[in-house]
Amino acid sequence: MYVGRFAPSPTGPLHFGSLTTAIASFLDARSQGGRWRVRMEDVDKPREQPGAADAILRALDAFALHWDGPVLYQSQRLELYHDAVEHLRVAGRTFACTCTRREIADSAAPPFLAGQEGPIYPGTCRPGIRNGIRNDLPTRALRVHVDAEPIGFEDRLQGYFEQNLARDVGDFVIVRADGFIAYQLAVVADDAAQGITHVVRGSDLLFSTPRQILLQRLLGYATPRYLHLPIAVDDSGEKLSKQTFAAPIDGLQPQRAVCAALMFLGQDLPPDAEYLSLTALWDYAGAHWNPERIPRTTAQHCSLG
Ligand code: GLU
Ligand code: ZN
Repeated sequence: MYVGRFAPSPTGPLHFGSLTTAIASFLDARSQGGRWRVRMEDVDKPREQPGAADAILRALDAFALHWDGPVLYQSQRLELYHDAVEHLRVAGRTFACTCTRREIADSAAPPFLAGQEGPIYPGTCRPGIRNGIRNDLPTRALRVHVDAEPIGFEDRLQGYFEQNLARDVGDFVIVRADGFIAYQLAVVADDAAQGITHVVRGSDLLFSTPRQILLQRLLGYATPRYLHLPIAVDDSGEKLSKQTFAAPIDGLQPQRAVCAALMFLGQDLPPDAEYLSLTALWDYAGAHWNPERIPRTTAQHCSLG
């Protein structure tokens, strides 16, 4: 049984990039007779934009992208995440970290590897702040310690991808200094709890996947199949994102936006696509969905910003 999902963060309205992700995950699920769930990733309260969650759901509705079951809100699932954190702690895989951003930046100089989000954590607090090291300092974050062996997976589009987490990422944060649960942990707990079998999402998350696989292994969860889509970039090569104020897609002409997204994904359009009802468009696109035709790249230009 196929269970897929679309998991937007409510940091702004749906834009071309997130619409494309929604459509690809929807069609992949539909074409395999699977279920398609929507999860609102609203754990990161400081980054949330008021009203964005509702606006995203209204837009999905306007596009006739109908999801199965209730929408899941991460903000209502903190207990599940804290149980997972506790499991990792009892297994001896976590440690409290007192380092400031500044200290980490100073100890690990650029250049960074492709896809690296920042400096690699130098392991300062790994021996344990309780063991006499730096125990006068306030705890900032809880980290998971990683292994120095590669973690790889076969992406349905991008092919084999692996990272050595110790070398490429470092011990990473699962509970942030501000007390919020980190994305990496919440996404793994929810994909498992919802029985997600297939993840279709933007390739900006390709570099997060080995961390998520490590957490799945430590927590005894199954690893879903992954397909990382090319992300839409604008004329200057910047990712279209809610943060860079990519124009919200035009809800008045949904067929136009859908056709642009299907073309971006390399899919066939039905004749007179712009004049079909959305339902007819989805029936055609679902029946003709061919992931093999998605461009095998991590970023692709798009003029419909
Ligand atoms: N919430 C994440 C985002 O909007 C996506 C998470 C995922 O698909 O794993 O970027
Ligand atoms: Zn530290």
